[in-house]
Amino acid sequence: MRQTFVDRNFREMKELEELIAAFGSHAHTEVIETVNYKNIEFPIYTVILGNRTPKSPTVGFFGGVHGLERIGSDVILSYMRTILELVKWDKSFQQRLQESTLVFMPIVNPIGIARRSRSNGNGVDLMRNSPINCEESQYPLVSGQNYSSKLPWYRGDYQEGMEIEAKALCHVVETYLFPSKLSMAIDVHSGFGARDRFWFPYAHSKKPFPDLAEVYAFTQLLNQTYPHHVYEIEPVSRQYTIQGDLWDYLYLKNEQNPNKNFFLPWTLEMGSWNWLRKNPFQIFNPWGIYHPIKPHRRSRTLRRHMPLFDFVHRSCLSPDSWRNLQNSVKEDHRKKALEAWYE
Ligand SMILES: [Zn+2]
Repeated sequence: MRQTFVDRNFREMKELEELIAAFGSHAHTEVIETVNYKNIEFPIYTVILGNRTPKSPTVGFFGGVHGLERIGSDVILSYMRTILELVKWDKSFQQRLQESTLVFMPIVNPIGIARRSRSNGNGVDLMRNSPINCEESQYPLVSGQNYSSKLPWYRGDYQEGMEIEAKALCHVVETYLFPSKLSMAIDVHSGFGARDRFWFPYAHSKKPFPDLAEVYAFTQLLNQTYPHHVYEIEPVSRQYTIQGDLWDYLYLKNEQNPNKNFFLPWTLEMGSWNWLRKNPFQIFNPWGIYHPIKPHRRSRTLRRHMPLFDFVHRSCLSPDSWRNLQNSVKEDHRKKALEAWYE
């Protein structure tokens, strides 16, 4: 078997630690957990900016859940670098941060990136690791399997408890997003598709998502504000259903709370087909399928999603037109959403 050299200080980790040092007192940084692989310790960092009072509107950015999709970490680190500059000079951005909180967890699965695997050090696919079971599975193996950690999409021993990385992500969401009166999460992945997809739950079921009216209004707002945006917005279940999705788990956990606040998790699945189509030889590179190899294509990907991240932050601060809907409007939106997204 091919032995991969595992480096604790891989590029994204070095960049994150540089950013943490550069933010200094502008940010609150925590090592949520450390994970160990072949006697090397890897920290899982969270960086928090802004108001930080529990109720303030909060956006969480998550990346690197699947180690092979390191471009997800890159995209978030690149956004953090922009914010590092904005906090120094942009008065309107400083004002926004006084009224809101931004949470960053750009490297959820450091061992996965270090050893170039989708899974964590135990061979577990973290996005299949929650105890939520799929209601109708179309693709038995891909949707999550319990047979072996040697095969991809292994769910792990989730009944005994989730993996450290999955628990760390849940801890951050429950601590910093759940108490907020309005929070959204964006988890950045890349997949073998032709388009960039912006997904809302569910992933475990084809049932309509409860907050459909709000998602529909949010989508309308995005379409009107950026008519030329690149995203296909839809429930994950329109593409496939999976076992053990962490975001479904967290969404349903928040729903069970009688004093729940509004929490909406998104997944950004960047389509890698365009990178491959234009550079087919990258399929032979170990990162190739899920990562743009050519520098100009990487740069393009790093800047492509900044308007979306900024839009999510601003819509969290100005929710009147999409979150605080009248009942009659809500009903109408729900009907239209059912027609648009569910057969
Ligand atoms: Zn992924």
